[in-house]
Formats: sequence, structure tokens, C-alpha cells
Amino acid sequence: MSSLTEIAHLLPWFFPVAVTLFGACIGSFLNVCIYRIPKNESIVRPGSHCGCGQSIAWYDNIPVFSWFLLRGRARCCRRPFSFRYPAIELLTAALFLACWVQFSPAKALVGMVLCAIVICAWFIDLDHLIIPDVFTIGGAATGLILSLAVPALHGHSHPLLTVASLQAGRSAMLGLLIGSALVLWIALFAEAILRKEAMGFGDVKYLGALGTFIGWQGAVFSLFGGALLGCVWLAGTYLWKKILGRAPALGLPTTSAAGQPAEITLGVHVPFGPMLGVAALIYFFGAQHWVNAYFENLAFLF
Ligand SMILES: [Zn+2]
Repeated sequence: MSSLTEIAHLLPWFFPVAVTLFGACIGSFLNVCIYRIPKNESIVRPGSHCGCGQSIAWYDNIPVFSWFLLRGRARCCRRPFSFRYPAIELLTAALFLACWVQFSPAKALVGMVLCAIVICAWFIDLDHLIIPDVFTIGGAATGLILSLAVPALHGHSHPLLTVASLQAGRSAMLGLLIGSALVLWIALFAEAILRKEAMGFGDVKYLGALGTFIGWQGAVFSLFGGALLGCVWLAGTYLWKKILGRAPALGLPTTSAAGQPAEITLGVHVPFGPMLGVAALIYFFGAQHWVNAYFENLAFLF
């Protein structure tokens, strides 16, 4: 451990650079997860391959760089690769670096897990309008376990690790229950009023999973922040359509599970899952200080 501290002291750029490269590689893996998990394909085998069936050599599969070197086209058959691939790699790298710079190493690692879940859920929801259970139920289980292991995630630093773990476990459970209950009840009310399904059950599980990482205050913030971002999204989509005459194509140029083009159009679907995730990251990376202070001012209500 002391040698690691020495490295950090002598070469201050070493760990940030290593974490950024690590993030880009994980981002490359997340691209595979986003593409394969909704199709129930293995994320390990076969290795990366092009749409034409050719396997992709390692030197053509370097995160970010390969896409730019090949100018977004496959070497084998020149078919275009979406800019979304390097974009997700860059996004993952940036978020991992932000975790590393802002938090203690242990909390940073947990933060990276949260970022990975949010990124996968975000783009799978955009493409397929679902969030697979591995990210919601699996995410909730992961969040609970990581809360016990790293109580600092929920700001608990009792000198006795067991006590701190139990306190963090309680915070995670509250996040899970309140997060899920909020979306569930809003969905039930909306369904009763609108007489149609307003929110997927995936969102119920997803906000619960996010709550295990960011506690109930974070879950409440994500719900309202997510709704606000949803409105911004709708307005943005509307303007885009007005100006360019077509909806922005954010999904991959593939078809979704239902065989419909995975395209987001105004009035059809607001991808609420991605908005919840982005709001959760906003809370995790900074908003929590003033959000928690706000809830403390409301403590007389509880
Ligand atoms: Zn090819």
C-alpha cells in the first residue's frame, strides 16, 4: 500500500491516466453488454465480431482510438460503426476519472459500478424500451452488498466497521424501498387517471436499485430530477423535429426486439429510465450536499 502512495506522490498523473484508460476499456465492454444482454447473448463468447461475421482483431478494437483510426468503418467490409461506440467509451472514461478525482479509492470503485449500471440501463432502454433484470434486481443486490462493504458510500464512518456497515445497510434498504415505492405509486395513480400504462415496472425496480447506492434522498431527487430531465428531453426532441423535420436517431441503426425501428419519437415514449439514471449521477457527483441539507430542513415533517 505504501508503494502505491509513493507512486501517487512521485507520479501524480499515473493513477488518473490509468483510471481513464481503465474506464475506456470498461466502456468498450459496456458496449458489448448493451448490444448483447437484451438479446440474451453471452457477453463473453464469441469475441467481438463485425456485422458481416468477421471477427475483429485486437488492434482494431482499441477503445476510442480504433474508431477514429478507421474513421468509423469496419476494416473488413467498410460498413459504418455508430459514433455511439466511442462516445460510450469516452463517457465511461470521463465518469470513472470523475469518481477517482472526487472520492476515496473504495468509494470511487463503488461509484464506477454505479456509473456502469447507469450507462448500460440508459442505452438499453433507449434501444429496446426495457431495463433487463440484471441491472435492476442485480443492481439492487450489488448496491446492498457494496453498501455493507463500503459504508462511506452513504457517508457512514463509525469507528466500528460493523456499526458503520449496518448503518449503511439501513441507508441502502431505505433507498431501495422508498425508491421503488415512489415510482410504483406514481405509476399506479397515473394508470388510474390516464387509463393506460404510464410507466414500466422496470422503472420501479430501477429506482430501487439506484436507491441502494444513493439512499432515499438520492432516490427522491432522481425521481423529480428525472421527471424534469424528461421534460427537457421532450422539449429538445420537439425542437429538433421542428427544425430538422425528423426525430433524432439516438438508438443504434438496428431494430428493437419488437422489430420496430428503435427510434424515439415525440408523443410515443419518453425514456424515463435514462433520465432516472442521469439524475442519480447528478446527485452522486455533487447535488447530494444541497439535497441532503434541504431534507434536513424538512426533518420536522418526519
Ligand atoms: Zn465486416
